[in-house]
Amino acid sequence: MADNQRTVRDLRRANRAALLRHLWFEGPLSRQELARDTGLSAGSISNVVGELLADGLVEEAGAVGSDGGRPRILLRVAADPARVIGVDIGETRVRVELFDLLMGELAVTAPALSDSGHDVDHVVRLVLDGIATVLAETGTDPSRVLGVGIGVPGVVEQGASPDDAVVHGQTIGWDAVPLARLLRAGTDLPLHVDNGAKTLGQAEMWFGAGRGARNAVIALIGSGVGACVVTDGRPYRGATSSAGEWGHTTMRVGGARCRCGAPGCLEAYVGAEAIVRRWGGAPAHASEETALAALLERADDDPAARAVLDETAEYLGAGIADLVNLFNPERIVLGGWAGLMLGPRLLSRVREHAAAYALRQPGERAAITLGRLGAEAVTVGAATLPLARFLDNGGSADRAPSTGTDAVVPGVQTDREARALARRAR
Ligand SMILES: [Zn+2]
Repeated sequence: MADNQRTVRDLRRANRAALLRHLWFEGPLSRQELARDTGLSAGSISNVVGELLADGLVEEAGAVGSDGGRPRILLRVAADPARVIGVDIGETRVRVELFDLLMGELAVTAPALSDSGHDVDHVVRLVLDGIATVLAETGTDPSRVLGVGIGVPGVVEQGASPDDAVVHGQTIGWDAVPLARLLRAGTDLPLHVDNGAKTLGQAEMWFGAGRGARNAVIALIGSGVGACVVTDGRPYRGATSSAGEWGHTTMRVGGARCRCGAPGCLEAYVGAEAIVRRWGGAPAHASEETALAALLERADDDPAARAVLDETAEYLGAGIADLVNLFNPERIVLGGWAGLMLGPRLLSRVREHAAAYALRQPGERAAITLGRLGAEAVTVGAATLPLARFLDNGGSADRAPSTGTDAVVPGVQTDREARALARRAR
């Protein structure tokens, strides 16, 4: 009897999660469309939708006519029942953004890191101040916030609880930093820490250039270089979650010293810092972004600048060919501020080089495109970590912490959702 009750409850919860997820990604939809897309019975749809409407998680969004019959009421997820926060601990600043449930931006703050760079106490202070700022600016009660997702420049080892997450940020001098524990001293909100390239990957999979793909690699090219490898709809993590450290694969044996300490990493050739250094023509004291912009601007009449870009296109193409040969993705998305800055000029040559270095069969099937969400996608992706957990819970306000790893589900979860997304993408 008890088992039976549990099964019924689990089923209801699963149905609730399935409908909420589907409405979030595909809405507005009518009850009839929900039934068609999810395979649930009309009775189940009616019950669960009734519950979601009563809880205020779903709202009516007008009606569409149906040939001769009664008009069909459209349903969508409501924006206001809850809030999420995304944080990007970036290379030069810490960005904190508050979003509504439909990922509409409500407030943002992005203080620059001081000269002390990624000093841990300083970063923790900026994150906590940022959270307080976006809440105060919007008059948001913290009890409405589902959680805070945090993208970091390093390997994130998840522990038994999300607060046990530890960051190994070799290129910024972080050695097993217990980031969530340190933040916990200043906030009661649920925390989800993940690698910045992985949060970027989740954002592009949910809303951007990765939508509809089941096997993809989303590459982050900034000062440093990372990647999120999505296999069969889920991020590939490896034994201790460091998988996807593409920037530290070897491009040249005995080559240029990387920020991680090893010689010849890809990052030491295609990261913005490395590109700007090889050129050597940037204005004095220019930021990396200004320097890279200057390099691109001068490329037409400065042979040195042109040579650096030609070389970068080849390194990048070769690095992408490695991804193609290792993971057989259907799509490779180049994002990150430097990737997006270089993309318009380099993309066609990067494609040519990738084709020349990769095996022909997987190479011909891998599309190489630019990210669609801009340079701030790490923050957006970070905010989807608590949101994904909320959707997977069927919109339960249960703020009990998850293990983090399960919460990271890209937009495509079921074959049916994948087909629906593919249909819409066409
Ligand atoms: Zn390296």
